[in-house]
Amino acid sequence: PPSAIPEKKCFVKVVAIGDSGVGKTSLIQMFEHSRFTESFKPTIGADFSNKEVTIGGKIVTLQIWDTAGQERYQSLGTAFYRGADCCLLVYDITSQSTFENLSQWKSSFIQKGMIVNPETFPFMIVGNKLDIAEDNRQVSEYALQKFCKENGEMTYIEASALNNLNVEKAFCKLAEIALKRQELMQKKTDDYIVQEKLRERAQKLGRASGAQRQNNGNRENCQ
Ligand code: GDP
Ligand code: MG
Repeated sequence: PPSAIPEKKCFVKVVAIGDSGVGKTSLIQMFEHSRFTESFKPTIGADFSNKEVTIGGKIVTLQIWDTAGQERYQSLGTAFYRGADCCLLVYDITSQSTFENLSQWKSSFIQKGMIVNPETFPFMIVGNKLDIAEDNRQVSEYALQKFCKENGEMTYIEASALNNLNVEKAFCKLAEIALKRQELMQKKTDDYIVQEKLRERAQKLGRASGAQRQNNGNRENCQ
């Protein structure tokens, strides 16, 4: 009976990258524990933590990967990127250079993560530190929109980990896009399997009717 079939587990690996100091860890901590801490000791060893969220009625496990500060030396290992379902690209609204480095972060993610269809891959650009943007803004919303448009209509949001502004929205929106893509890819695989089965059956039928034609060969010739 259908009730005996367990609901398929939804799992999304999220990778957060961007320059050191833009607020990646702060955003993740705020999202996971609703708290902002002034400074974090770089975590050694544990690279990820899981958080369950409900998206469109489904329980989804977000596995969020944070760096342990290796981004300072551009020495993030491939394990960090591999198998990612989506990527949070973070910059600091009050620092132009962190915005300019996004392209570099994006391309090394695609390269090291061996992303197969980068043009449809779920990226979310987060401009962090919106709370101090009024006096210190270096990156305009226009520049952000332009960048996202030029990079295949990437999704974006301005946020503040300090004020807990748009933090949950950023993660949940990204997870939602990632789930949609997973479903689409699953459907493509399912369709492919169905097509293969149909092809196989057609081939078998073809062989069978071919054999029959040979058997009926005489009669056919008589007509
Ligand atoms: P990471 O290196 O990208 O992980 O950045 P951190 O999360 O460690 O944050 C770097 C610094 O920026 C810390 O001093 C944080 O307190 C500060 N910070 C992070 N997010 C915000 C924010 O939204 N607003 C403000 N004003 N400061 C922030
Ligand atoms: Mg950090």
